Amino acid sequence: MINYTKNRNVAILSWNMTSSPMNVLNDDSIPAFEAALQRAYDDADVKGIIVTSEKNEFIAGADLKMILRNNDKDPAEMLKISAELNRIFRAIETTGKPTVAAINGTALGGGYEACLACHHRIALDNPKAIIGLPEVSLGLLPGGGGTQRLPRMLGMEAALPLLLEGKRVSPKEALALGLVDELAVSREELLEKAFAWIEANPEPLRPWDERDRKTGKIVGKENFKVPGGGVQSPTGARVFGAGTAMVMEKTHGNYPAPLAILSCVYEGLQVSMDRALVIEARYFVKVATSKVAKGLIQTMFLGLNEANKGISRPKDIPATDVKKVGILGAGMMGSGIAYAAAIAGIEVFLKDVSVEAAEKGKDYSRTVFKKAIERGKGTPEKAEAALSLIKTTADAEDLRGCDLIIEAVFENRELKAQVTQEAEPMLAEQGVFASNTSTLPISGLAQAAAKPANFIGLHFFSPVDKMQLVEVIRGKQTSDYALALALDFVKKIRKTPIVVNDSRGFYTSRVFTMYTAESMELLKEGVNPVLIENAGRAAGMPVGPLAVTDEVSLELIHKISGQSIKDGVLNEDDTAFQIGGKFVELGRLGKKSKAGFYEYPADGKKFLWPGLGELFPLAENQPSVEEIKKRLLYRQVLETVRCFEEGVIQTQLDADIGSILAWGFPAYTGGALSFVDYVGITNFVQEADRLADAYGERFRPTPRLREMAERGLSHFEPTN
Ligand code: NAD
Repeated sequence: MINYTKNRNVAILSWNMTSSPMNVLNDDSIPAFEAALQRAYDDADVKGIIVTSEKNEFIAGADLKMILRNNDKDPAEMLKISAELNRIFRAIETTGKPTVAAINGTALGGGYEACLACHHRIALDNPKAIIGLPEVSLGLLPGGGGTQRLPRMLGMEAALPLLLEGKRVSPKEALALGLVDELAVSREELLEKAFAWIEANPEPLRPWDERDRKTGKIVGKENFKVPGGGVQSPTGARVFGAGTAMVMEKTHGNYPAPLAILSCVYEGLQVSMDRALVIEARYFVKVATSKVAKGLIQTMFLGLNEANKGISRPKDIPATDVKKVGILGAGMMGSGIAYAAAIAGIEVFLKDVSVEAAEKGKDYSRTVFKKAIERGKGTPEKAEAALSLIKTTADAEDLRGCDLIIEAVFENRELKAQVTQEAEPMLAEQGVFASNTSTLPISGLAQAAAKPANFIGLHFFSPVDKMQLVEVIRGKQTSDYALALALDFVKKIRKTPIVVNDSRGFYTSRVFTMYTAESMELLKEGVNPVLIENAGRAAGMPVGPLAVTDEVSLELIHKISGQSIKDGVLNEDDTAFQIGGKFVELGRLGKKSKAGFYEYPADGKKFLWPGLGELFPLAENQPSVEEIKKRLLYRQVLETVRCFEEGVIQTQLDADIGSILAWGFPAYTGGALSFVDYVGITNFVQEADRLADAYGERFRPTPRLREMAERGLSHFEPTN
């Protein structure tokens, strides 16, 4: 696991775990690392130590499965992990033998904390490698001394943003920031430089340590001066204050980790390193055993990895490879999809009503590449290569032989049927036809196809180049083969799929509209719109519900609810339909028409339309922000539960990932189904009942939720 060799009186500890694809800190490797270090300490011939790896990465971090396993156990178990790492890392600093981290590749989290504990850091200048402390993004904090060593090394001003944003950087950037001390161009040079440093520094001492005069032992200084000023200096106090304000503005206190990091730094920098590590461990246990860490690790790390592998792909279908894709409609969505396919090396035929219109769609890719190059990402050669893969046309014949055709023309059933009939015959023998519709049921659209089994929904989100998710919609007749090909394609363009069954609004639009619908109920009750918007953001939604309704367009919301009324699934008195209708009448269609719930002055920031006060007079008693937050979130969660129970969404993971990536459901909860575990199943059912009694049956928990509460279950197991 960790190969131990001796060369020129230096022990080389080279990580090479066979039990996992990457080197990680876990129950096996941590003791092995400690044993290897001890062997070097005990060998009088060993004058120094080099820590490196034989894999492409250095150490990718702590094994998150180990953290998750201990998340809801006795906190003492979690404390053991942190205490063990701190004992090992602190020994590196205090045993007296010069130790160098020869960072040959990615070093993240605990992996980089190991480097921080070494006396010197040299990184291989490998542009693929990433270095940093990203723990915060998973609800954790660096619990192996990272919150203490980084600010002591770099000063608070430089360290805090790295700790609070979990920034990951290349070796070159790491050198510029001071995260590493030197770069090497090859593995040989990496080791040579490490040997040289050890030779030149036989008795290294970290700046925060000193030798005890009586015993000669290395111990932490009690009065170490942090570069740039400690927490109590004027600069330190300013940086700390700004950091706290930034965290509160960004997280509304929903994420405990950034606040805990600030506390670690604040308290830790006032005491010796040995005592500071105890403080850090205490905060680490607090965040690592939190529901927020559980949700983020489960959904946004382990879950996302699973989803990206395509776990929902039918196993018995051989791998497919989309080499040529046709796109119908070079508007906002079609042009974005063309870009995403071209950068994955897929040949694209982009068709619109004229070549000029298609070229306009291709311009979108040209602009994205230009902007990327200006930001130092990508090269003109790469951009040219991808652009040459996009061919524009107005002739369906050019789509002959496509493995996949994606339709992204206007949202009109007849037009979609017409382009399907025109283009489908051009598909290769085993080709699949997909629609990017956002509202029209896939099974209905498939009726226009000659091979409905090869018809599927591929719902991309706007803007396509930034949005990671694709909602793959299975129509009634969609075959396993079509699903497999669609998922292979999504994987090839490096997006994340969720698989849903056909339904009105599919999964994502159906649940997202609950957020906007509930805000309209609140308006109708006379709740202050400022309060509604603030509560939406405080709950962790990226945009207030009224603002996002304007972005989607009140007209569209009115149209969609109108269609649902026609189809008999909604009543005329539906609040969103009524309010939407009123605003359409007033010509206030939303952001596009520069007037909706908000006013959009040409020369300034948007503000809530004062006329709202007349339409919705303020009620005498205003609810608390907490109550509004609850209504906005519970409404979405209950609709997600219904989607799950109806089989629209089939796994908890798809529901959670879809909610976070599609419409920004707050990630701290773990997603729209994990939310139930976040608040606790019993509490959830009780609260939903209370909300139903107070505001209406839309909040009533389903019988299955009640049953889950009775049995103390919070995980949603598929029934079929
Ligand atoms: P858009 O209006 O920007 O583009 C539609 C394009 O289709 C236009 O360029 C038009 O010229 C072209 N077109 C019309 N008839 C055609 C034909 N016969 N052959 C080829 N091209 C033709 O629309 P959009 O926003 O890109 O939406 C397209 C589809 O994607 C719609 O079904 C929409 O519901 C769906 N969608 C949109 C969004 C979004 O945020 N805009 C998100 C997801 C899905």
